[in-house]
Amino acid sequence: MAPSTIIDETVAVPVVTKGTGQAPKKQYALEPNPPVADDYMYAFKYNHELPTIDVLGVDIPADVNPQKEAQGIVDQLSKVLGSGDANGFADLFLDYGYWRDKIAFTWDYRTFNFQPAIRKAATDLLARTKATNFGFLTPAPKIDRPYPDYATLQFIISFETEIVKASAVINAVLTKNDGWKIYTMHTVAESLKQFPEIPPQDGHMTADVPWTTQRDAAVNAADPEVLIIGGGQCGLSLAARCKFLGLRELIVERDEVGDVWKKRYEYLSLHMPHWQDDLAYFPYPKHWPTYTPAQKQGFYMQWYAHAMELNVWNHSNVVSAEQDKETGKWTVVINKGGIEQRTLHPAHVVMATSLCGLPYMPEIPGMADYKAGEIRHSTKHDSARNWSAGNKKVLVVGTSSSGFDTAFDCSRRGIDVTMLQRSPTYVMSLEHSAPRNIGNYAPDENGDRPPLEEQDRLFFALPVGPAEELGRRNAEVLENLDRDLLDGLHKAGLRTWRGQRATGNATLGKTRNGGFYFEAGACEHVINGKIKVEQGYIEKFTEDKVILSGGRERQYDLIVFATGFTPLNDSIRQTLGGAIADQVGPVWGVDEEGEYNTAFRETGVKNLWIMVGFLPYARFHSKQLAMRIKALQTGISPPPYKE
Ligand SMILES: Cc1cc2nc3c(=O)[nH]c(=O)nc-3n(C[C@H](O)[C@H](O)[C@H](O)COP(=O)(O)OP(=O)(O)OC[C@H]3O[C@@H](n4cnc5c(N)ncnc54)[C@H](O)[C@@H]3O)c2cc1C
Repeated sequence: MAPSTIIDETVAVPVVTKGTGQAPKKQYALEPNPPVADDYMYAFKYNHELPTIDVLGVDIPADVNPQKEAQGIVDQLSKVLGSGDANGFADLFLDYGYWRDKIAFTWDYRTFNFQPAIRKAATDLLARTKATNFGFLTPAPKIDRPYPDYATLQFIISFETEIVKASAVINAVLTKNDGWKIYTMHTVAESLKQFPEIPPQDGHMTADVPWTTQRDAAVNAADPEVLIIGGGQCGLSLAARCKFLGLRELIVERDEVGDVWKKRYEYLSLHMPHWQDDLAYFPYPKHWPTYTPAQKQGFYMQWYAHAMELNVWNHSNVVSAEQDKETGKWTVVINKGGIEQRTLHPAHVVMATSLCGLPYMPEIPGMADYKAGEIRHSTKHDSARNWSAGNKKVLVVGTSSSGFDTAFDCSRRGIDVTMLQRSPTYVMSLEHSAPRNIGNYAPDENGDRPPLEEQDRLFFALPVGPAEELGRRNAEVLENLDRDLLDGLHKAGLRTWRGQRATGNATLGKTRNGGFYFEAGACEHVINGKIKVEQGYIEKFTEDKVILSGGRERQYDLIVFATGFTPLNDSIRQTLGGAIADQVGPVWGVDEEGEYNTAFRETGVKNLWIMVGFLPYARFHSKQLAMRIKALQTGISPPPYKE
């Protein structure tokens, strides 16, 4: 069933029962030792309850005409935004409404929470930016009722400013005395009017040398305006966006494009259905498997680089990077393929080396002395194949996705495997979560998926405040739907919780970028005892023993640390050096107004950008960042609004 509302990054919620669903028998949210505090990397401070029917004192009548009502709001918007009437604009919002903007007005990523902030921002911004030429985009306006007690008039519009074509997703609520009020509005730049994407090349008998020779020569001679470090999904997407905006791009990749997926543990498939994972301009074919095997995803990325004719230097890395303080221009020395050094002078450098900085291994007393077995990080463990003979015992430290996947690979081979859990994990079934969280991208009965651009506008539309409120409801509903699964896990000794701020994976994705597992088979093995669970942590190692907290003595032949990664800032330090890394703020996590720290926007270092995120992020944010860079390069970008 396709759900009716899509929420930034996580939650789509179909109508269930009255209110937020049945009261749970046991509140897994009430975990006494959560792995992260509610405010861990989450500084957002404009929470407000949802404008439910109870709060508003009125419901949207069943016979309302969504198109007509939306037209009424658009007429008002057109009037105030066309004339720069900041007060008129702010007055269209609920007192606790949210205006989120990506580039269209602010040339930044900003959220203005509640009416006073909207009024102030509009006063400043509408003086320099007028919006005109309003129209409707598909899907048509509708009443979106994810819960019986909460409904909005939801519609998408197009408009133009002097510099960009843009869109906006609007959720309006009906109030008792003031008619329709905008609850959330997300304005997003869609294209630069002066610099639309360049059309496809002719390609017909274009030279007297083969295409591959032409490509090799172009790649070799690359002299980038935009140097992208890292050829994962984010680097590739941004490179393609830049190229089609006429920016000279180059990716420097330390391995080979695609290796990042091909070289992960061999039993890995992507954790969610592929419905929203396509890279820009290059949709998966119709018969693509629901869960993409990691190696196949690696090939898809290689095909992408060739199909988009991107300039990539594989097996290459940064030797040194310096920036002229006055001009912001870079001098970057590259070790190209281990064969030669090249000095580049790009205007912009983009770090696309992943949110995962460096593999994180805890330092545990006696670790180096352990002789009874092997110790590895999960990034160095590709399979348990060689551990199945001779009654070997494996310990997996960590109970997020990699930990579960690794333990499951062992248990499927009949290996005696134990997961060591220090703090609770957010677990949800794919059966219940996938349709609710990304169901709007799902294929129909003919296998056809809805237009990605359309769904992306909706998926990324909600500001953090409302997304958190709806995320909390969704997590509770999912917990009830998954109750048997969760009860089974608890009985087997595994602890779960309802996630940071009780929002399931919604907030965890924005902060910790992990700490969850979407059941892909391992839970079943935990429940039936094929995967054992111990609580606690490794206190120390002796030569022949692993001492778990509380003095429990154990012995394992293989210990895999599925303990994640250090922050991206470590990768910046390693790649660009300490002088630059010291100026970059923390990356990821949510700031006070609800935007990501440092990613996709100013980093603290002029002309240095961070492009990160899971696959839909790669597609969506690459477009914004490429436009931002193009506007800077061509001198048409107003300064970002930082008030
Ligand atoms: C086990 C596992 C499963 C995952 N499953 C999913 C999933 O199902 N869906 C999803 O969206 N995400 C998943 N993720 C998260 C996923 O890794 C990230 O979303 C994604 O890889 C981020 O893309 P990226 O382009 O930012 O980074 P990456 O894909 O990590 O790409 C970074 C690239 O930069 C290169 N690089 C790094 N440092 C340098 C350097 N100094 N110089 C040159 N090149 C460098 C790397 O070799 C790599 O190719 C998973 C992660 C793990 C570990």
